[in-house]
Amino acid sequence: MKITFKLSLSLALVASSLACAGETPHWTYSGDEGPDNWGKLTPEYSQCGSGKNQSPIDLSGMIDARLPAIKFAYITAATEIFNNGHTVQANFAPGNSISVSGHEFLLKQVHFHAPSENRLNGKAFPMEAHLVHADKDGNLAVVAVMYTEGKNNLAIAKLWSQMPANADDKVALNAKFLAAELLPKNRDYFRFNGSLTTPPCSEGVMWLVMKHPVRIGKEQVEAFSHTMHHPNNRPVQPVNARPVLE
Ligand SMILES: [Zn+2]
Repeated sequence: MKITFKLSLSLALVASSLACAGETPHWTYSGDEGPDNWGKLTPEYSQCGSGKNQSPIDLSGMIDARLPAIKFAYITAATEIFNNGHTVQANFAPGNSISVSGHEFLLKQVHFHAPSENRLNGKAFPMEAHLVHADKDGNLAVVAVMYTEGKNNLAIAKLWSQMPANADDKVALNAKFLAAELLPKNRDYFRFNGSLTTPPCSEGVMWLVMKHPVRIGKEQVEAFSHTMHHPNNRPVQPVNARPVLE
């Protein structure tokens, strides 16, 4: 009887430690598991500490490279909205893409940071949207949109009306929401090489930051911050030798 109990207990412990090994290590935006320590939390996150092309950055000293216009083909609506505890994210089914200098990337998801992560010539913004794309080989391209305080933003209103209040909550979107609704009218942009701004901070990400911000209501930013319970922006990282093109 005793032996059986011990055996099943140890099996249970092995099973639970295996389950833990498969999970992403926990991280936060402040304290011991905050940005300064992300690189030390697990070897998988080491680039957060040792990388030389990390995001976000303060974009400055732009180089005129006559960047060609990004071709946006955002056609199909978002399917669901998800609160993952770090951000609020709208997921998209296949059918949306961008073309950057003839290279195609498919839109995967859109999520938000408040305050902004990137800065433009030293200036931070109340909120920033990240439209995350991947090409057929898994290379990432992120289109970033800055928000400045003003009148209410109708696209954000649509999303926030179904924003899940609790971490790990996911709901199907009722309203038809197209990613194009997030973009400014003028789509001039800055471009640089960077990384994911959350662990594992993987590099090789093409950043395409819209030059022109869009407006958002103060209470819309507050609604997002309230749901997150804390700021969800990684501090700016060293630019090192990277050029920022425009
Ligand atoms: Zn992001």
